[in-house]
Amino acid sequence: MTHPAGHSDFPAGMIWLVGAGPGDPELLTRKAERLIRTADVIFYDALVGPGVLGLALPVARLVPVGKRSGRHSKDQASIDRLIVDAALAGARVVRLKGGDPAIFGRATEELIAARAAGVPVAICPGITAASAAAASLGASLTLRGLARKLTFVTAHARAGEALDLDWATLADPEATLAVYMGKAAAADVSAHLIAAGLAPDTPVALVENASLPHERRFHSRLDLLPLAARTALGDGPALLLIGKAMARGDQAALVAPTSVSRAGARTMRLRPSSLAT
Ligand code: SAH
Repeated sequence: MTHPAGHSDFPAGMIWLVGAGPGDPELLTRKAERLIRTADVIFYDALVGPGVLGLALPVARLVPVGKRSGRHSKDQASIDRLIVDAALAGARVVRLKGGDPAIFGRATEELIAARAAGVPVAICPGITAASAAAASLGASLTLRGLARKLTFVTAHARAGEALDLDWATLADPEATLAVYMGKAAAADVSAHLIAAGLAPDTPVALVENASLPHERRFHSRLDLLPLAARTALGDGPALLLIGKAMARGDQAALVAPTSVSRAGARTMRLRPSSLAT
């Protein structure tokens, strides 16, 4: 089978960095799906699930270049070279990354390598793990009055290096902190944030394999986070969400009612839109 009618935004010899989303193929964008269905070759990360790869053309070459913490199968420079060489050879190249390519996805190195070789390259965004995790929890990451700020941080340190984050800034009681690659560093994250002044009973949610059939969700608190991460999580990708908005239960209970019904007798149910900050 050859290509479906060629799309002008994906000529031969081009690279698309495509966000595969958190795992559930239904959480792909339609554009991502079209690019995946058009590619001659797809270089994919370990976190990209079979449901997403299953959309590729039967003749497409699928190349795993997966990187999971501690088990790097290819270094970044080799991946840069592979995708550029494939494009220079005239292939339509999809570089498929978990979540959004521009969030802890090493997109920059690949953009630089492509541009340096004169290869056209573009990004197709995806749903990032924090969005998927919050959706699974049925919670909003921002919450009027309680979480006015959302910070994405990676707790992955380079081999042999200590975790070097600005803890004073991160320990913000009016923010939600989404910690990527935070499982191994959970004890450090907890200790540093508490030392920087964040309350030990600050709610924490842990979501493993968000959006996938084997998803698991847990609620805990900041001082118990190390225990929760150690005992509750398996070996799937997991996101830590820290902040008052992540309290167990219905977020409506956290938000003061904004209006009372005309009859005055009962509090109006808060519509989801009224929870937006
Ligand atoms: N670009 C990706 C993040 C890559 S870093 C994105 O936008 O989501 C890899 C980390 O993302 C993992 O260690 C984990 O913290 C998080 N992650 C990715 N997929 C996940 C999932 N389905 N469930 C929970 N966390 C996930």
